[in-house]
Amino acid sequence: MKSYKKELWFDIKSRRAFINITREVESALKESGIQEGILLCNAMHITASVFINDDESGLHRDFERFLEKLAPEKPYSQYEHNGFEDNGDAHLKRTIMGREVVVAVTEGKLDFGPWEQIFYGEFDGNRKKRILVKIIGE
Ligand code: ZN
Repeated sequence: MKSYKKELWFDIKSRRAFINITREVESALKESGIQEGILLCNAMHITASVFINDDESGLHRDFERFLEKLAPEKPYSQYEHNGFEDNGDAHLKRTIMGREVVVAVTEGKLDFGPWEQIFYGEFDGNRKKRILVKIIGE
């Protein structure tokens, strides 16, 4: 069995963003040479997510509104976590959107359903963060 690991780095210049990382993950899969197996992709930070959904800008604005309803950024004082930080909302948003995705690898390709794309979700940006791609198989 082969295994391959790659880190992807981000430095998002806003507090929140959704970035389509499908091409970068596909590049990692190609570099691995793995044809049949499993690919894991996870955020390495507790205020960022990796998730799968549609690359449609209206949906991304809907996600933003949905998350702001559930865990509004402000007022910062509403969160007990915000003693030394102001990112209580970002931890909650990350938990809602998830830490990682797992995708089957079939014939050297990500075995997606219709319209599936992989996104990095940033909820507390303006600093360097990374995600992990780990692929196992043959
Ligand atoms: Zn925090």
